[in-house]
Amino acid sequence: MKIVILGAGVAGALLARRLARIPGIDVTCLERVQPDDHSEAGTGLNVGPNAVKALRLTDPALAAQVEAASLPWSRWTAALADGSVLFDLPIESVADNPGIRIRWSELYRVLRVGAGSAIRYGCDVTGVGRDPKAPGKTFVTWEEGGQVHRSEGIDLLVGADGRYSLARSALSGVPQPRHVGVAILRALVEDTSGGLVDDYGQWFNGAHRLLAFRVKPGHVYIAATFPLVPGAPVAPAWSTAPVMRATWEPASGRPRSATLQWLLDALCEQLPDSHWARMQESDVRYHETDANVLYLGDSAHGMVPTLGQGATQAMEDACAAALIIEDEIAQGQRPVAAWLERIARVRTPRVQFAMALSLQASDTLLAGADPVAGAHWKTQPPFLADLSRLFRDVALGKELAQELATP
Ligand SMILES: Cc1cc2nc3c(=O)[nH]c(=O)nc-3n(C[C@H](O)[C@H](O)[C@H](O)COP(=O)(O)OP(=O)(O)OC[C@H]3O[C@@H](n4cnc5c(N)ncnc54)[C@H](O)[C@@H]3O)c2cc1C
Repeated sequence: MKIVILGAGVAGALLARRLARIPGIDVTCLERVQPDDHSEAGTGLNVGPNAVKALRLTDPALAAQVEAASLPWSRWTAALADGSVLFDLPIESVADNPGIRIRWSELYRVLRVGAGSAIRYGCDVTGVGRDPKAPGKTFVTWEEGGQVHRSEGIDLLVGADGRYSLARSALSGVPQPRHVGVAILRALVEDTSGGLVDDYGQWFNGAHRLLAFRVKPGHVYIAATFPLVPGAPVAPAWSTAPVMRATWEPASGRPRSATLQWLLDALCEQLPDSHWARMQESDVRYHETDANVLYLGDSAHGMVPTLGQGATQAMEDACAAALIIEDEIAQGQRPVAAWLERIARVRTPRVQFAMALSLQASDTLLAGADPVAGAHWKTQPPFLADLSRLFRDVALGKELAQELATP
């Protein structure tokens, strides 16, 4: 059986590692970049407790390596620009274990090393389609070392090629983005704060929010959000120090908290190297009915990063897909299309829930938002119950998850 995975990002590298261990399966994961690529070095991720739980259940050895490269995400604090505390939530009050904070490039490194020779680097996939000679099968073309390659008769194609997935646009059409009306600026700075910044914290001033946490080794990740008209471009002035400082001048008239002051100073120094993105989401789609193609991670679902669920759900997706594919291959009775149906049945409602909650929790980032009211409802039982469901109820396929959790 021939399986081709497009992209060795979060979902692709994780799945490649698992499938490469199944005897008799020919797995290739095609990745555009080289192994030492650090294009995401300037970004940190907070990965939800649910991804850690899913990975611990599915692949304890890999979970230990990922956790060793991270710091635990154990608290979520929110404050106003002058330091007035809005809430302070211990993550374990709504989860079975902490989440993690990690550099994006570190997460890639650990997952890619874990997949070993299953990943073929420097392969830029340029074409994907239905194989005209074999119903249900697909073909892929790619450029590698200046040469064009083609693989046909693929029994299972996995599109794990991220937000602008070629696999999904070629086989299912380009997903339409829905802009939420928030621009986000990200930077990674050296930690000279002397202990002011550690676990996941947020600082609000009107509808503007600064978010920060410490990551290994000795850095602080900072993200600033600005409301904007959905779909509108980011204003160049927002990338200037005077605008950045004025934006976080406390509405209360009191001075900025010492932590916020340090974050602003550090961010302003890094402004020329910072990256802007606009928050958006797109419809969920895991598979096709007339071709054996499976989408995982951002290729299956674009979501807003407010609750740190993008990479988190990509990890849950890959864990569920690995377990279900392994189970189906072990049983050896059903066609690939039935496996894909099973993965979609397990994952679709789960991801729709994560997307809806992430969007709902973005209320404080929208134009005209009141951060005090927005923070208050996040301390109330209905939101905490939803957060607990998000962080605890990993969806790996019920019977498989129960089997794994039974000592
Ligand atoms: C501003 C911002 C902040 C975020 N913060 C968080 C956060 O705190 N927590 C969180 O969980 N998530 C966060 N995310 C989301 C998270 O980064 C993504 O959801 C996650 O990386 C998706 O994983 P993936 O495996 O689907 O795709 P990716 O990790 O994007 O991997 C796709 C891979 O495919 C490769 N590829 C693409 N096209 C081709 C091609 N044609 N040929 C060969 N290879 C190809 C790429 O090189 C890449 O390695 C954030 C996103 C943004 C934009």
